[in-house]
Amino acid sequence: DAPANGKDCTRFDLEKETELRFEVEAGEAAEQVELELLSGLAEVFGSELNRNKKYVFGPGSKIAVFTWQGCSVNLHGKPEVAYVSKDTPMLLYLNTHAALEQMRKQAERENERGPRVMVVGPTDVGKSTVCRMLLNYAVRVGRRPTLVELDVGQSGVSVPGTVSALCIERPADVEEGFSVQAPLVYHFGSTTPGTNIKLYNKLTSCLAEMFSQRCEVNRKASVGGCIINTCGWVKGSGYQALVHCASTFQVDVVLVLDHERLYNELKRDLPHFVRVVLLPKSGGVVERSKECRRDTRDEKIREYFYGFRGVSYYPFSYEDDTQLKLVPVTPGRDLTYHVLSVSSVDDGDEGARKSIVEIPVCGFIVVTFVDTQTQVMKVLSPAPRPLPRHTLLIMDIRFMDMK
Ligand code: ADP
Repeated sequence: DAPANGKDCTRFDLEKETELRFEVEAGEAAEQVELELLSGLAEVFGSELNRNKKYVFGPGSKIAVFTWQGCSVNLHGKPEVAYVSKDTPMLLYLNTHAALEQMRKQAERENERGPRVMVVGPTDVGKSTVCRMLLNYAVRVGRRPTLVELDVGQSGVSVPGTVSALCIERPADVEEGFSVQAPLVYHFGSTTPGTNIKLYNKLTSCLAEMFSQRCEVNRKASVGGCIINTCGWVKGSGYQALVHCASTFQVDVVLVLDHERLYNELKRDLPHFVRVVLLPKSGGVVERSKECRRDTRDEKIREYFYGFRGVSYYPFSYEDDTQLKLVPVTPGRDLTYHVLSVSSVDDGDEGARKSIVEIPVCGFIVVTFVDTQTQVMKVLSPAPRPLPRHTLLIMDIRFMDMK
């Protein structure tokens, strides 16, 4: 095909209810790919395309251009793969949206709250994408739904290691996703909920509480309901976290993507009024390697400091005097064998905290074992139980009792 601006250009004519899937090569040296709608109507994950506008997709992008009516598009550049598929679950996803919209209408009529939807399934089944589509369809018919992001590994809202909520007021930008203005973000601190499942569940409850409070004062938010994106960890405590989320958010609908066992378990364990629906995953969803996930996380953090696409930020770099500051530490396994000083500061004397370093210590202990499950640590101590004081200062120094 005739190359515009020196790039390869391929035209695709799509029949109705089909999608063009393409991937842009990963890696910094990779060339971006441009998409242009020539005729007809098309959307990317629920966001409509404008005609004759060039949409630019960077390295690692995995995109589907779906059309309900039929369309023609051009791809400029060299995508890693590009093919048209007739086999998509889009009709089922649209029907799901239609059912949620019925619930919103009913909520409006009966002065009730709109649907609270939890999207679950293993990793790489398209959970985030389904959330994005349902939010887009809702906002396109004038709703104001809330996205609740509980995927601490791959957050669509903030940096990894956080959970968050975002009010959706316009469809996602085709290239950049949802506009992130004034999100509510909580620190979790790790990319898997298993690191501290209690904290994870606590933060889920905090978000639920905040969302409910907003619904009480904002009728549109209440009717719009929420779409909750979850982690791909669906076994053991991960499963319990999903059950916890369903209960604390009082979800009405659970969409299970491509996991029959999970579907059956949730049907068994959730109250009967919760509608649990099994949906197929799209054949277009691409499995991402560990490296790919890590790169995406790095990129998210980089964006936070340096901006992305047209927007550049200029972060500051400075030194802060931390040598006299104390930082609270949550006991974890890495504490094992560390020597701790027992400060003589009075327990509960918060006012004294600033100057704890100036207060003498009354003895030392060594941590010999930390049970993170029960939050108990075993210590070596010169004196019998109990500890005289409970403010402990960690030393870099470790001691292993070999006797
Ligand atoms: P999950 O949230 O379950 O981990 P995602 O929704 O993030 O999965 O999807 C994984 C990847 O697959 C994303 O890069 C997404 O852009 C891509 N993707 C999703 N649906 C399609 C599709 N129909 N065609 C092509 N790529 C897709």
